[in-house]
Amino acid sequence: MGEFWSKMAYYGLYSRSRSWSYSRNYVRGLFNDSLSCCVNALLQSFSATTELLDILNKWNPSDRIERSNIPLHLKNTLLAMRDVSHPDPHVDFLDSLYRHTIRRYTQQDADEIFHIILNLIQKQMPDRCLAQEIRSLYEIKVETQVKCSHCASVQRMPTSLFSLPLAICEGGNTLESCINSFFQLQNLVDGEEWFCDQCEKKQPSTHELKLVSLPPILCVHLKRFRNDRGFTRKLNSKVTFLETFSTDVFAAGQSENVANDSPRAGEHYSLYAVIVHIGSAMSGHYTAYIRPFQDQAWYYADDNHVQPVTWSDVQQYTYKGSSTAYLLLYRKKSWNSSG
Ligand SMILES: [Zn+2]
Repeated sequence: MGEFWSKMAYYGLYSRSRSWSYSRNYVRGLFNDSLSCCVNALLQSFSATTELLDILNKWNPSDRIERSNIPLHLKNTLLAMRDVSHPDPHVDFLDSLYRHTIRRYTQQDADEIFHIILNLIQKQMPDRCLAQEIRSLYEIKVETQVKCSHCASVQRMPTSLFSLPLAICEGGNTLESCINSFFQLQNLVDGEEWFCDQCEKKQPSTHELKLVSLPPILCVHLKRFRNDRGFTRKLNSKVTFLETFSTDVFAAGQSENVANDSPRAGEHYSLYAVIVHIGSAMSGHYTAYIRPFQDQAWYYADDNHVQPVTWSDVQQYTYKGSSTAYLLLYRKKSWNSSG
């Protein structure tokens, strides 16, 4: 790493823009306050989700708004993260999170905190139209279908998710294999029988998840933490993922109740953020790989340390030992568009 990059990494500042003022494509470090690495890594991903700030920028909060309002502090933080001269962009956001449910000096689960933040935005955003826009940005719609093996009647239950929770196996996995098992048919037998309304009793059944629609921002949660007889353990298994993938991988899980916004052939998702967990289930550290919007370069953000990296670095690092990809953020794009 040359002197210039070392210096930029030292200050935790790096901008693709020649201007050192406000920039859309700007990655800056965030200092670790009371073990805030998990929130810091998530803030890097929110900052790279420029669509989120575009929505928050349409909102003019009134003076009467509560001091611990999460959407307000998130908006201010994302703006401050683009300002090189701002000394501590995320302090007020962290304070308001600590005032809600998150405890200081505790290892957090990035998927859980991601959900807490999005749910607090839904609860506390006074402009309901903008709250809905943010929901639609991340919302994955699936349908649970349970079919009675005796009378063949089907119960359908709509479900909405902010991240796609994918189980992983010991050994090797690909993102595609994880997606395929998410939509795989399961038999509910041997004590797992489902109550059938038609038969009016529990019957052996099949359980299946069907995809209804995918959002513009797709968050994939690789479920590495598994509860084993009262103990949580972490699966360090390798999961390979592509920088761009086609929505064809979802074809097998597609619902016949196809919505207008369901994935169409030829649509693609492009990776722009990876939240990494390093360590064990009991103690660990979070960092993030970020590719700012329409910027082809990748950056690694480890609290206040930021450095440019290559796509090969992203792939190699997230396969190494206890350094594992935990959340993957993909942006929907058409095959011919950039970014
Ligand atoms: Zn039945």
